[in-house]
Amino acid sequence: MNTETFNEGFFSFLAQTPTPYHAVSNLENELTRNQFTKLDEGTLWKLEQGKRYFCIRNGSLIAVTVGSSTDLSQGFRIIGAHTDSPSLQLKPHSKSGCEPYIVGGVEKYGGALLSTWFDRELSLAGRVSYTTADGSHKTGLIDFNRPVLYIPSLAIHLNRSVNEGQEINPQTHLSPVLAQSIDGQIPEMEAVILEQLSMQNPDQKPYRVNGFDLFCYDLNKPSYFGLSNEFISSPRLDNLLSCYIGLKSIIQANEGTNTILVCSNHEEIGSRSNSGALGNFVLSALSRIFTSNQEKLISLHNSFLLSLDNAHASHPNYQDSTDKDHKVLLNHGPVIKINANQRYCSTGITASVLRILAAEAGVTCQDFVMKSDMACGSTIGPLTSAQLGVAAADMGIPTWGMHSIREVTGSNDPFELYKLVRHFINKKILPPFND
Ligand code: ZN
Repeated sequence: MNTETFNEGFFSFLAQTPTPYHAVSNLENELTRNQFTKLDEGTLWKLEQGKRYFCIRNGSLIAVTVGSSTDLSQGFRIIGAHTDSPSLQLKPHSKSGCEPYIVGGVEKYGGALLSTWFDRELSLAGRVSYTTADGSHKTGLIDFNRPVLYIPSLAIHLNRSVNEGQEINPQTHLSPVLAQSIDGQIPEMEAVILEQLSMQNPDQKPYRVNGFDLFCYDLNKPSYFGLSNEFISSPRLDNLLSCYIGLKSIIQANEGTNTILVCSNHEEIGSRSNSGALGNFVLSALSRIFTSNQEKLISLHNSFLLSLDNAHASHPNYQDSTDKDHKVLLNHGPVIKINANQRYCSTGITASVLRILAAEAGVTCQDFVMKSDMACGSTIGPLTSAQLGVAAADMGIPTWGMHSIREVTGSNDPFELYKLVRHFINKKILPPFND
């Protein structure tokens, strides 16, 4: 595999993954193709040496490999990422008073850069609970996968001061237009969803929609840009890139280490849910892997969490917004994220582990530290590290426009991070990281 073939696979994963529910479904397919066995939380687990497993809960996924020549007490190489991205989530009922247009009601999901959602073809995807013609209840995924929604800007002639900064009210300004009624008949959103569900699942004979988690998304595909294709622009780089790197790495796990991949839902809305990083999904899975609490605690003491989430690259047009002494450049390799207030989980010691591993893997890496007079963002790293009590570090590829509907990274950066993560999970003994 090289940079081009890696990006090719990554572009296709991005284009097929509009929501966290599609993310875990696509991860499931790829893991199944690579000898991972699905575990059901409703049954007894008995993991064996040399085997691979995964488990899914509400938009999150945990995959585990148990080395054949290892003991669980040696600990796990844990890779963390998140499956969700900032978006607009559809409300149960459409917006009234817009006739003859059919306009969806939406809520802001996470910290989206709202201005970027205007004036582009949007589609709609997610999961649906439904009843079939024979009365059974099911859930399934849908993806309209065509331009069905659009949020038009207001013309500058009707708002002359728009370029001086404009408040965007999510309740009034962001509702996407879905259709125009011709005969005065406005179909209920359920009817529109049911039609799509029936088209995608004709064998199931869907009869009634009972509930849905549907998100608007940018239909435009990932793309290279720049004179030499040196950049990548795509929706949902944060954080499908890290999920994909985690997936590709754990598939390459050898027999000499134990590994875990955790792809958590709900990071963008604070991680507090039954499948988010503040929930008990990881701890509950871990407690079923070990036969005693002591064994689990020894293993966690010897484990290392590499939390992957994108990092801010210094922006050529806003150079004062980042620390000039910690310049982060696209195509200059993965970024170690550091924060004195532990908004990132890296410490001097755990960051040094990454630097040593990067040098061994032939990868250069960079350091990101927020400007000292600005508040720092966060990610699943500190939460998962606190929940498990494991040594941990935060790292990610450099990006521009984080939380825009389209984000940018360097064309070389994803593959460089992959090389480092693959080395991290397969290296038999890590540099020291405990006191
Ligand atoms: Zn993120």
